[in-house]
Parts: sequence; C-alpha cells; structure tokens
Amino acid sequence: MTQLALVIDLNVCVGCQACVTSCKEWNTSGEAGSLADVHPYDADPSGTFFNRVQTYESGVFPHAETIHFPKSCLHCEEPPCVPVCPTGASYKRKEDGLVLVDYDKCIGCKYCAWACPYGAREIDEARKEMTKCTLCADRIHNEALSERDRKPACVLACPTSARLFGDIHDPESEVSRTIHERGGYQLMPEWGTRPSNHYLPRSKTGEAGCASEACACRSQTSESSTHDRREAMEGAR
Ligand code: SF4
Ligand code: SF4
Repeated sequence: MTQLALVIDLNVCVGCQACVTSCKEWNTSGEAGSLADVHPYDADPSGTFFNRVQTYESGVFPHAETIHFPKSCLHCEEPPCVPVCPTGASYKRKEDGLVLVDYDKCIGCKYCAWACPYGAREIDEARKEMTKCTLCADRIHNEALSERDRKPACVLACPTSARLFGDIHDPESEVSRTIHERGGYQLMPEWGTRPSNHYLPRSKTGEAGCASEACACRSQTSESSTHDRREAMEGAR
C-alpha cells in the first residue's frame, strides 16, 4: 500500500514560516477553507493552522541552539484518531495512506483531538468542524497541474528544501532513501501510532553550522544534539 508522507530536515529548517503561510493560503482557497482567524490583531488571537513551526531555545551558552520544529498531522499508519470517531468522519484512505476528515460527517465532538498524541488536530471554531493537514490531497493527485506542482504547498514553498514528500513504502523513493541514509526517525514511536512523517536529525552543530573555526558551536557533541532534539520533541507534546 502506498503511504504518502513528509520527511522534514531539522538541520536546514530556518523557521521562516513559509510552509505555514503557504499551507494557510492553499487550504483557505480549497475545500477546507476559509480557515478561521479569530481576533488576529488582538491580545488573544487564535486561528486554524494545519501546519505550525514551533521554535525552541536549547542548551546553555556557548552550546546554545535554536531549534525550529515544523509539526502537522503525521498521517500515522495506526492512527488513534480514527477509531474514536463516532460518525466515521475520520478515516484513513487506502489508496495513499492519508488520514482525512469528511466534513459532512463531522459533528465537532473533538474525540479525535483528544486521541491524537501529537496535538495535530485543529477544530475550526467558526464551522465547528475538525480540520487537519491533508497533505494537500486536492493538489497532489490533480492532473491539471504540472507534475512538479503535484506536491503539498508547504513542500513547494520551503526555501531551504527542508521538506521532502513521497511514498515511504517504496524503497526506491527519495523519501525512503533519505530516511535510510540520514537516520530519519519517527516522533514518539513508543506510542505505537507508526507516524508516516519522519524527521531528519540535526547533525553536530560544528559539522553543519557556521563553519567558523573560532565559533564555540564547532565543539558541540552529538550527544547534546540528540538531547536537544529530545527536548524539542517533549516540548512539542
Ligand atoms: Fe491522527 Fe494525530 Fe496521527 Fe494525524 S498525527 S494521523 S491526527 S493521531
Ligand atoms: Fe469524528 Fe468530527 Fe468528532 Fe473528530 S470531531 S471524532 S472527526 S465527529
């Protein structure tokens, strides 16, 4: 079975939010839209976002780092959000592995949001319907688009190519080869959800960082990078 997914490179994500805004723009103009923005310029703004980038400070100077952590629905292979849905609105599509919501069946009870351990569901308070990342289901199979445009909006918008898209069940796909070669990992696999999206770990800051011999970041250890990544994931829960 095909399983479409994102592979996100934490080494090159610069937290620019291009993926967030392109996601919002595309999905607001699609069948999910308009995605709500409530009091956007007031003290207590809220809104519906399928994709968020969370930024963390980690470590202590001179080994401090800023970690940008994009997070959206992970299109789990064992999605706990699906069986809890009382109306069958939440489902996993057989042909491409996407986890989707049928808005006509959703009653806004939020059971799925409680069941998702990653906080990936977004209730649209204006419509009282549950929404989430669809991996741009309405464009990735759209034959009216050129083949290079049949990718999620976030992937096309990312200026550093931090986001790859493809079938993780095809061992020859770019995403599968990248996961294999770069040690791609799943978010909190101990929950048994088998997330399809993978993250590529940050390498030693000194290897891929500023390249300055004088900078203290070059002495950072891989242990601290792993520790920082774990901290970021814990923060994302
Ligand atoms: Fe469901 Fe959450 Fe997994 Fe997405 S990340 S498939 S919403 S459990
Ligand atoms: Fe199903 Fe909608 Fe309730 Fe989620 S909020 S469990 S999709 S009916």
